[in-house]
Order: sequence, then structure tokens, then C-alpha cells
Amino acid sequence: MGGMRKYVIMGVQGSGKGTQSSMLCDAFGLEHISVGDIFRWNISHHTKLGAQVRRLVDAGHLVSDDIVERVVRDRLEQHDWNHGFIIDGFPRNVPQAEFFLESYDIDAVIVLELADEEVQRRVLSRRLCTGCGLDYNLIAHRPEVADVCDVCGGTLVQRDDDTPEALARRLQDYYTSTEPVIDVFGRKELVIRVDAGPSKLEVYDDIRRHLGLPDAAPA
Ligand SMILES: [Zn+2]
Repeated sequence: MGGMRKYVIMGVQGSGKGTQSSMLCDAFGLEHISVGDIFRWNISHHTKLGAQVRRLVDAGHLVSDDIVERVVRDRLEQHDWNHGFIIDGFPRNVPQAEFFLESYDIDAVIVLELADEEVQRRVLSRRLCTGCGLDYNLIAHRPEVADVCDVCGGTLVQRDDDTPEALARRLQDYYTSTEPVIDVFGRKELVIRVDAGPSKLEVYDDIRRHLGLPDAAPA
């Protein structure tokens, strides 16, 4: 199992979790396993699992631990991750974290940290094209003309749930649910904390150094 690398990545919305995951996957041949993406794929392909997840979410429930664990187990049993994986969106609570630790040898849990004010600044600057669905960010990816999509000319709007109040609630939920999970991994000395404030390349280099990974630029 020499070159195998198994990581979990955690971070608040706007911390660049997706970006850092794909940079690490590109550079080190890892498989990015996003539980949210697996659920979304199943919902859009109308699978049995997708229907199950949709029913729960529509009723305002969280997807149960046994469904989430089964999805993760099935995904990992595909063994298409010769060099390892980065898992994202799991575990979400202590029982899931304990299940995961019992079943897999994890090398590290990457926790991307970002001050609430910076999360607000990043998330509240997001815009979405009503025409083609492209994402914009008034800090990092500005449209050429204000409020107009560069690609299709559609109108850019803010998402309904990107309000300061809704974001504050999501942040509170995030901290309430993830801190106990981070504690579980922390007891095994697996947690590395990285400041997600600097540029994406600086954050990437910082993660790489913490993990003892060689100096490989992302593709
Ligand atoms: Zn557009």
C-alpha cells in the first residue's frame, strides 16, 4: 500500500474545499469523492437511491447515517483509487466518523479554516447566471459588464439562500456538526489545520507541506 494516500477534507462554504481537492487530485492522481456529488448524480439520474435521498431532503430530514455510509462504502469498493482519495462531505457526525475510522486507514484530515467575515465576503459576492447557470464571484471572477453573463448575456443574480442571515445559520450548523467530528480525528492525531485565507496556490502549498507531499504543481 506504499504510495496510497487517504484524506478527508473539511471546511466551511467558501473555504475553497472543491478547488483544493481538485488541485491535489490532479497533482497526485487521487480520486475526489464528493458525497454531495454522488447524491446529486443519483437524483438527476432518477435512481432508487436518488428517490430515497430526495424524499428525505424534501421532508426536511438529513440523509440517514446508514444511507451515507453505504454510499461511501460502495464508492470506495469500486477501488478505482490506485493512488488514494480525498473524501469531501463525509463524515458529518460522530457515528459516521467512528464508522470511517474503523473501516479505513485515513492518513490525514485537512481542515480549511476561514474567519467568518471572510466567509461572508466570499459567499455574499457570489452571483449566478439565470441564463446558463454559470457561477461568478465579484471578487475572483467578475463579469465584464456588471450583472451580465459574459457567456450568454443572461442576468446575474444572488442565490436566495446567500443572505447574511441564512449564511450565519449555515455557519452555525457547520461548527455545531463538524467540531465533534474534528475532535474524533484529533484524538488519532490526524488533523491538519490550514488557513484558507491566502491565494489558492499558497493554500495548496501549505496543505502539501503539512501532508509531507513532494513539490508537485497541480496540472
Ligand atoms: Zn450565462
